[in-house]
Amino acid sequence: MRDLSIYIHIPFCVRKCLYCDFLSFPVSASGSGMQAREMESYVNLLEQEIKENAEKYKEYRVVSVFWGGGTPSILPAEDVSRIMEAVKGNYQIAGDAEITIEMNPGTVDASKLRQYISAGMNRISIGLQSADDRELARIGRIHDYRDFLDTYELAVKAGFCNINIDIMASLPGQSVLSYEQTLRTVTALKPEHISAYSLILEEGTPLYEHQSEYHFPSEEEDREMYALTKEYLASCGYHRYEISNYAKTGCECRHNKVYWQRGDYLGFGLGASSMVQNVRWKNPDEMEEYAVYVDCLAGKQEGFWVDRQILTVQEQMEEYMFLGLRMMCGISRTEFTRLFGCRIEEVYGEVIERLCCQGLLLQENDCIRLTDRGIDVSNYAMSQFLFDRN
Ligand code: SF4
Repeated sequence: MRDLSIYIHIPFCVRKCLYCDFLSFPVSASGSGMQAREMESYVNLLEQEIKENAEKYKEYRVVSVFWGGGTPSILPAEDVSRIMEAVKGNYQIAGDAEITIEMNPGTVDASKLRQYISAGMNRISIGLQSADDRELARIGRIHDYRDFLDTYELAVKAGFCNINIDIMASLPGQSVLSYEQTLRTVTALKPEHISAYSLILEEGTPLYEHQSEYHFPSEEEDREMYALTKEYLASCGYHRYEISNYAKTGCECRHNKVYWQRGDYLGFGLGASSMVQNVRWKNPDEMEEYAVYVDCLAGKQEGFWVDRQILTVQEQMEEYMFLGLRMMCGISRTEFTRLFGCRIEEVYGEVIERLCCQGLLLQENDCIRLTDRGIDVSNYAMSQFLFDRN
């Protein structure tokens, strides 16, 4: 029986953050009127998509489910339970499956959290980004630190004992000192997992368009925050297992590791991506098209299918290298040979030797991984494993 992971996309948020280019739409906090109906019809489509796919994957064992978005916790708890029932009733779920839901502060209460636990969720991921209220306001977050703390405490009280907190560096108006304060505040809560990303200005977002009106940390300060993250989190007992992810021992996110290790995953919902046995496809990211797609799956309409891309062996090798090298444990020579039927040196011998000489790559027994310097220039190092670099 093969392992499978499931991603469920909820494309609704209370409001768009100023830096966000994810596939999500603002809905009013009360979710009333037309927007409530929109969310309800989306949940119906999602349920149908999950059910219609089940037959094809009955030989698979689901090892993780991840609710992402958007803000999944914006949905009524009954809808989340209904979708979880569709998953549990139609797929074989491993007894120890990791089931995560992302949430934003202020979008859950004690009863919602209890219903998540009843529905089988055993991990939550809370978007904090910063413990400084002025920084949060500058990037258009819907909450302040107090809202986050209330949500965190409610979650602990409800019984969640595997919690991730997302934080961000290089925010407008952020200083190394205020970032350090965020690190101190977050680690004092002792969550099991911390994701720490640097803000990337994405074209088309309000923050990108108005960037001249903000004061961003310099490149030097950005590097300082990056170094501080590694050192400070290590001193608090969090080991770095991926470029931007830190965990207490045994609390690494199993779902994300499936992506980095190129495991099989199914994405349900608007714009969700899937990859199963080296075939990749992506759901439509327009709501009307998605509805037609689900109708076609259910046999109510004909003629709309998403393109499926069969990855070539070269594409698989490239992905194996640049996703695997994101992880601190790197990639395994034995696994490479098992997957591709040849020794890694036959394909990448010259690149590996060159990057090792440059001090960017390290070979230790079966493992090949980036050095600290290699991680600092990871985009360059990983790009060397592309077959067509020009
Ligand atoms: S909460 Fe997340 S998905 Fe929603 S707008 Fe903000 S960054 Fe985007």
